[in-house]
Amino acid sequence: MLTLDQHPSGRHFLQIPGPSPVPDRILRAISLPTIDHRGPEFGALGLKVIQGLQQVFGTRHPVAIYPASGTGAWEAALVNTLSPGDAVLMVETGHFAMLWQKLALRLGLAPQVLTRPGTCAETGLPLAWRHGVDPAAIGEALRADREQRIRAVCVVHNETSTGVTSDIAAVRRAIDVAGHPALLMVDTISGLASADYRHDEWGVDVTVSGSQKGLMLPPGISFNALSPRALQANETARLPRAYWAWNEIVEMNRSGYWPYTPNTNLLYGLHESLDMLLGQGLEVVFARHRRWGEAVRSAVRAWGLPIQCADEALYSPVLTGVITPEGIDADALRRCIHERFDLSLGTGLGRIKGRMFRIGHLGDCNDLTLMAALSGVEMGLRLQGVALAGSGVQAAMDHFTAHPAPKPA
Ligand SMILES: *Cc1c(COP(=O)(O)O)cnc(C)c1O
Repeated sequence: MLTLDQHPSGRHFLQIPGPSPVPDRILRAISLPTIDHRGPEFGALGLKVIQGLQQVFGTRHPVAIYPASGTGAWEAALVNTLSPGDAVLMVETGHFAMLWQKLALRLGLAPQVLTRPGTCAETGLPLAWRHGVDPAAIGEALRADREQRIRAVCVVHNETSTGVTSDIAAVRRAIDVAGHPALLMVDTISGLASADYRHDEWGVDVTVSGSQKGLMLPPGISFNALSPRALQANETARLPRAYWAWNEIVEMNRSGYWPYTPNTNLLYGLHESLDMLLGQGLEVVFARHRRWGEAVRSAVRAWGLPIQCADEALYSPVLTGVITPEGIDADALRRCIHERFDLSLGTGLGRIKGRMFRIGHLGDCNDLTLMAALSGVEMGLRLQGVALAGSGVQAAMDHFTAHPAPKPA
């Protein structure tokens, strides 16, 4: 077991779906001296990172940056647009969707939760946690809401607890076809800058995201991308808010400053991250993550284990959930792999705890670091006595060999 005063040799393999491994370039940028957040250089930095973020979110509208984890940005989205007792439609896609629902309850909102009932015959796991949002079910719930009491539809774009994505454009269409005025709020905390995302084009009103996943930064800053309708709702929303209030932030951001002390050094890191992502081109970044996901899934299939995501069209490019056979404790497996090979994997959360683990394929990875991670998993599976159908490591090597990485244009 490692302790903080022991230095292992080589790098730790942080293969959890966030925080993701931070590139050295970003760590170096963060280590620069802290500057005056009211001084002349700061405004230029503020404007630059906001403009870069707008490109990553796919929006022409304001993006608020908070010195907070993603959970803070969840709260900000709700308190800025809603009033006490408002109904919000949420969808049980996994642990993070349910945490957002819990937060809404605590704020005094009235969440109505859509779920997919039943368990999967093959694995015994809840079906809702193996599928994405069903846009038709959202349309149906909105049509049934004749008095239009539902004020917002809240969905998770990349459900980090399961490795299932959802089709956000289809959710928007379902809302429009139902002719319902509810706002659309999307959590893409783990999807942004790894999976294709289009705030304006998809008609999202508030997008929530965070720093420590696809943006490859340490934890500590998070975001709300807004729409004109969200800003309008902000004017009449009555939930109490002070620190999270958009109006002062958006106003001061016009000149690149904040109403309070922003996270200066993480903004250096964000500047560097945006430079890396936009320099390569987002299309290349998305293609890289898709290819990593394909390689990891080819390994899981070769082992003969089920992939948590049961819908091939919705595989996450960010992480892959792997279901362990009945009787194999996924957390004991993770512990063994951590102790023996200094590799961290994501734990099963909530309703699927102990039955699955998650392999993150985001952040500062490449083909060979992923091969190392898959080797660690394969060795761990054998050590825990899991009967494997074949070698996942070999399957992933075959995949990488046959599919060269996309090159920046
Ligand atoms: C990580 C994550 C969160 C929580 O963010 P924190 O930074 O831990 O507060 C919420 N939603 C999703 C989808 C996430 O991946």
